[in-house]
Amino acid sequence: MVSTQAAPAIDRDAIRRKYAEERDKRLRADGSAQYRRLESEFSDLATDPYNPVVPRDPVTDHVTFAFIGGGFAGLVVGARLKEAGIEDYRIIEKGGDFGGTWYWNRYPGAQCDTASMIYMPLLEETGHMPSEKYAHAPEIRDHCSRIGEHYGLYENALFHTRVTDLEWDDANKVWLIRTDRGDSFTANYIGMGTGPLHVAKLPGLAGIETFKGKSFHTSRWDYAYTGGTPEGAPMSKLAYKRVAIIGTGATAVQCVPHLARDAKELFVFQRTPSSVDERNNAPIDPDWFADVNEPGWQKKWQENFVANLGIGFPAEDLVDDGWTDLGKRIRAQVIGMPPEERTPENIMAAFEDADNQKMSEIRARVEAIVGGEAGEKLKAWYRQLCKRPCFHDEYLQAFNRPSTHLIDTDGQGVERISEKGVIAGGVEYEVDCIIYASGFEVGTDFVSRSGYDVTGRDGLKLSDYWKDGMRTFHGLHVHGFPNLFFVQQNQAAAFIANYPHNLVDHADTVATVVSHAQREGFSEVEPSAEAQQKWIEFLMTGPGARIGSTECTPGYYNNEGQGYGEQERFALGHPAGAQGYFTYIDGWRKSGTFAGLEFR
Ligand code: NDP
Repeated sequence: MVSTQAAPAIDRDAIRRKYAEERDKRLRADGSAQYRRLESEFSDLATDPYNPVVPRDPVTDHVTFAFIGGGFAGLVVGARLKEAGIEDYRIIEKGGDFGGTWYWNRYPGAQCDTASMIYMPLLEETGHMPSEKYAHAPEIRDHCSRIGEHYGLYENALFHTRVTDLEWDDANKVWLIRTDRGDSFTANYIGMGTGPLHVAKLPGLAGIETFKGKSFHTSRWDYAYTGGTPEGAPMSKLAYKRVAIIGTGATAVQCVPHLARDAKELFVFQRTPSSVDERNNAPIDPDWFADVNEPGWQKKWQENFVANLGIGFPAEDLVDDGWTDLGKRIRAQVIGMPPEERTPENIMAAFEDADNQKMSEIRARVEAIVGGEAGEKLKAWYRQLCKRPCFHDEYLQAFNRPSTHLIDTDGQGVERISEKGVIAGGVEYEVDCIIYASGFEVGTDFVSRSGYDVTGRDGLKLSDYWKDGMRTFHGLHVHGFPNLFFVQQNQAAAFIANYPHNLVDHADTVATVVSHAQREGFSEVEPSAEAQQKWIEFLMTGPGARIGSTECTPGYYNNEGQGYGEQERFALGHPAGAQGYFTYIDGWRKSGTFAGLEFR
């Protein structure tokens, strides 16, 4: 993908001015408060459309390990613990089955943006060959069920269940877990893997409640209304419908082509265009896969991907996609510099030049595919990592259909919703259906997003302990909260393009630590306050978060343009990047000394 021809010079200052101008248009005083929560404010829109809630009796027993969240995190931790011989493992999940984000997001065209070979966890263990380079959602959801079945995780799981309260019982050395289904049970260990994007949000538009037609959020797709299936069967019931979709982020980019194909008319309301690069999806050839499929292949692929996003010079690029392309471009620029000129400033400038070159190619792609006035409006004017980069080979083409209308709002967004439709730029667009592709809550604190607080030793609340910022040891353990594992990316690899790699790696650590405690007869494990403090101080020596700059156009990456405060300063990764973390923690696990953890 990297061009071998000399790229035309791009005027850095002119591009910076244009980016700042476009950002300023979009800045709003209300920032993240512009949104409203689907679950607490629009309960009718939040209902699970995929599975009915099955009545059951409350659970009042004891398990060795309870895990909150039935997405990849809960599944991979369960897998590693089962492999380590822990049989009574229970997942508590708010959805009606495993899958997490893949349970809820069944909109047409839903697909993974990261290559299946590295994104779908435990492929080797479950013997699955992904069907495509970028798998579609039904295959990923099936894979979640496959992991659940392979490791016997269904037996003990509680679905359609939300944890309401989590409390450490120091006398008995167990966690007490209460839920909204009346459950009250105990566990020696608790894991939390609720994911960063699980609370759906709607734009805070006046009149949402007054709309007389049908409306839903993309994570609650109503196939009974649209017809069709998540597998892509035509949504025949839309053939006579005028449909509006609000939002043009990664979700809309994937479902717009399907809506454009099936709806009588489609109105796409755009506030900020996404950058949409080529997808180049292809089926996976079983013969090719048979050659790759040797023990340890997936770990090797995941590590190679990470290496290609870093600043090292890996010999090969196994995944070879839009993510690694940017890394290669930066390296190509750096290699072109004499060694004495490779200063941090010059490397940052090389990064900016590579980014400018990439974004200008993406804008040229829009012009070539769409052109005209719509083509101009679909051009993204910000650095590539200011928003989630998108990849699609049918999204832009959808705007060439006469029945698809791009309603660009010049950065201002939709004004309001009326009984009949959507109002933008002073014009009312009458529609039968409004689909909100307005994303998920990100910038809020963990406790508010997860819906429960955690009470640790001596009544310490996690919300209090973290009020000045998250504090963990290795991103996984928290002082004052024994036998608790927080399975997520911050203060660990903090890796954005292949999130499951973090999770699988944490699962290895959880299994190593729990096995040690069980083997040696310990009832408690907790990081020392000193080790945790040292870890955080070490993280602070790095360059800080790589995304979230207020120079970027507003979005959830930068708290809607307002940037992150003192508290979020702690949402860091390892100073040497994801690769640095994975190498470090592998050594820590292998050492067998468990330095920093106290077992009692
Ligand atoms: P996003 O938050 O990325 O997008 C929300 C969209 O709604 C934006 O385009 C936003 O505009 C728009 N919007 C909000 N308010 C208004 C308004 N008043 N008028 C008009 N438009 C408005 O949500 P997504 O669901 O698209 O994606 C969320 C994340 O989920 C992604 O960033 C990605 O991490 C993940 N994802 C991953 C996929 C994968 O393949 N792995 C696929 C899909 C999603 P603006 O940009 O101006 O704020």
